[in-house]
Amino acid sequence: MDFELSEDHRAVQTAIRDFTDREIRPVAREMEQSGTYPTAIVEQLKHMGLFGLGVPEAYGGLGADTLTLAIVFEELSRGWMGVAGMIGSHGMACKLITLHGTDDQKARFLADLASGTRRSALALTEPDAGSDLQGIRTRAVRDGDHYVVRGTKTWVTNARHADPLPVLVKTDPSAAPAHAGMSILLIAMDSPGVEVTRDIGKLGYKGPESCEVVLDDVRVPVGDLLGGVEGRGMQQAISGLETGRVNIAARAVGVAHRALEEALRYAEDREAFGRPIADFQAVQLKLADLATSVQAARLLTWWAADRLDSGARADTESGMAKLFASEVALTASLEAMRIHGGYGYSTEFEIERLYRDAPLMAIGEGTNDILRTVVAKGLRRDGIPH
Ligand SMILES: Cc1cc2nc3c(=O)[nH]c(=O)nc-3n(C[C@H](O)[C@H](O)[C@H](O)COP(=O)(O)OP(=O)(O)OC[C@H]3O[C@@H](n4cnc5c(N)ncnc54)[C@H](O)[C@@H]3O)c2cc1C
Repeated sequence: MDFELSEDHRAVQTAIRDFTDREIRPVAREMEQSGTYPTAIVEQLKHMGLFGLGVPEAYGGLGADTLTLAIVFEELSRGWMGVAGMIGSHGMACKLITLHGTDDQKARFLADLASGTRRSALALTEPDAGSDLQGIRTRAVRDGDHYVVRGTKTWVTNARHADPLPVLVKTDPSAAPAHAGMSILLIAMDSPGVEVTRDIGKLGYKGPESCEVVLDDVRVPVGDLLGGVEGRGMQQAISGLETGRVNIAARAVGVAHRALEEALRYAEDREAFGRPIADFQAVQLKLADLATSVQAARLLTWWAADRLDSGARADTESGMAKLFASEVALTASLEAMRIHGGYGYSTEFEIERLYRDAPLMAIGEGTNDILRTVVAKGLRRDGIPH
């Protein structure tokens, strides 16, 4: 048992922290509020190889482990959680192609995805089905060497920059169980019939766009069926979720840590009744509770990442980490706002963005109630982790 990061992990943490402090923190508030797309930051992420974080080295990626991924996502999110979102669902798509793609699909896509020349995303959710993915309606009908795809996907993060876009479809809607009739197609975004119809307005998580994508009789070559075998789409999607949940947990830790940083600094600077408010025990209690829960969330996230890196099943661990860390982010951003008094409510301080960004982590990659059901299932299957 060693609670210290290895030298390599520590070096990644220092490098991403320095980058975030230098390039992201000074511009995040202004860019987020003005709705400016952080093009220059994205270019730097490409340059640093972060689009290929989890892509094997054989395809030009960094081949990083899940703990490295957690460190990177936490540090970026300390600056601006939206920037982490630029490489989040992209990384999920890379993972799916790495784990399940045919040799041809890996050769065609992975090197370009690793360099960021191509970017990707993930289209699972539909207007009428999110938690219940087996209830999706997007249909892919085989027609010779193609599938003809019809349906609507929503909340697709980075949709305007993605190509190919992995899309969860039904290839056999009569299959029982329903997941046996589901597949993922890697859809070229310049195919006739694909349209990004709108950007969805949202509370926070500004930076990456979140879009509705309409697929109107889109012809997709059968060679773009992920893995080349129908009926595996749901398992493929789920296989990426454990890493995805560690990713969200790490982002939540980053947001919570930043809220704590801001609160501590403000409490020491702000004076009331002739002394810094950090002298008041009521404020100290909040700071102590925040620091304790942020560190607990970080350790839980690293534990889940380590479990994944050991090759073990980690749905319970990643579920616990995402559930706990996202609740910590929600609490931390609100408590930090209270410590800031009126200024916490102002758009001239960082806190209001953290407060708007935090709730997403309780929704994405499975809502927290869905995750509670995942954790409970794990407890009944494997016992209580200890
Ligand atoms: C900013 C943002 C970005 C996103 N990016 C992506 C993306 O890139 N790709 C993508 O595919 N999706 C994306 N999503 C969608 C996200 O994954 C879904 O919103 C999420 O899975 C919940 O689905 P839903 O919104 O349909 O809610 P619903 O499934 O309708 O759930 C509504 C409520 O019912 C509860 N509920 C539902 N079923 C159960 C149950 N069995 N037990 C207990 N409670 C239940 C939920 O917990 C929730 O409280 C994004 C969402 C947001 C907000």
